[in-house]
Amino acid sequence: MYRRFKSTVSDKDRITPVDKQEDIAHGSYGALLFDKRWKNRREYILNKDRYSCTVCSSQQGLQVHHRQYHYLKIEKKFKVPWDYPDQLLITLCEKCHQKGHNQYKVPIIYL
Ligand SMILES: [Zn+2]
Ligand SMILES: [Zn+2]
Repeated sequence: MYRRFKSTVSDKDRITPVDKQEDIAHGSYGALLFDKRWKNRREYILNKDRYSCTVCSSQQGLQVHHRQYHYLKIEKKFKVPWDYPDQLLITLCEKCHQKGHNQYKVPIIYL
């Protein structure tokens, strides 16, 4: 049921995620998630998914999940959260989001 949670990546692109992935991905995103550009992007994705969780269809506590995280080698930093293509951003309710993260590691792609 969580098959949509993360996208499939080829072995060539798959990098062992770091331990503190959540800190990198969501933690240091902290301030950025209040950025207007993220708010707009998030709103766009919620609208695309018809304001319901793509796993259980709940409309409660919706969040936008990144199916991959992209690390820019040249800039030595992660992409800003709004700079991901539509297919890598999906709407999940808080529960499914939490469960998914407990179950899977989001692949980090080094670009
Ligand atoms: Zn859900
Ligand atoms: Zn997530």
